[in-house]
Amino acid sequence: MNALENRGRGAATTDQKMEMRRRQYLDALGITRWVPRGMSEPAESVEPPEARGVMTVVPAAPVGLKQSSNTEIISREWAELETTVRGCTQCSLHATRTQTVFGVGNRQARWMFIGEAPGADEDRQGEPFVGRAGQLLNAILFAIGLKREEVYIANVLKCRPPGNRDPQPEEVAQCEPYLLRQIELIKPRLIVALGRHAAHSLLKTEVPLGKLRGQRLSYHGTPLIVTYHPAYLLRNPADKRKVWDDLCLARKTMASLTEAGERQS
Ligand code: SF4
Repeated sequence: MNALENRGRGAATTDQKMEMRRRQYLDALGITRWVPRGMSEPAESVEPPEARGVMTVVPAAPVGLKQSSNTEIISREWAELETTVRGCTQCSLHATRTQTVFGVGNRQARWMFIGEAPGADEDRQGEPFVGRAGQLLNAILFAIGLKREEVYIANVLKCRPPGNRDPQPEEVAQCEPYLLRQIELIKPRLIVALGRHAAHSLLKTEVPLGKLRGQRLSYHGTPLIVTYHPAYLLRNPADKRKVWDDLCLARKTMASLTEAGERQS
């Protein structure tokens, strides 16, 4: 066997291992049928429900993105933002937090996932989506071909509401500029809002989550898809299928945005 064959066999083994891991994650999600292109098994494709159309809930002006090729400036801007958030006392949540939860991930990510607020684990560790809900989010990401470190994950609120109560509108109003700045700096192609509170806070609407799902929405000019929060899924595993449908729509939306971007460049 020559070196090339050896390499080929090694790559196949790695693929098989990856596929086994992916299936374990899909099983955890209650989804077993989707097989990505390029895999040897015939794919029984699970297509997302067709988007019911493009509904822009927030007719806000696009965020004014600052263009800069100077990575030092961008880094300094991130550092300043992080420092500001760390010392923020703009709303009453500062008094009860253990620490702020700024956000984590690739600062040049194409995908951004946004939840409502830190919970107890996040407050303790200073990182969004850790604990069981975080593990499920990792599984969800893996199932659609993404790694946690490839995407950016943040919350609307950077401090934990006591007892995990719902975020209050005035808290969202005080904290949202930080999130907007993060979006300005990252420039994601697509935002996925995780859960009812995140969707309502971002979209400034009370429309039930079920009606917001299945559509390409917009947050300050960035396309946005809504799905359930992983913590909700832990309590309501029967809805995992709906999340899978939402993520298939998100993947399809990302593919069309990427294709459109490539056509323009
Ligand atoms: S939730 Fe946001 S606005 Fe309120 S104290 Fe924390 S960082 Fe500041």
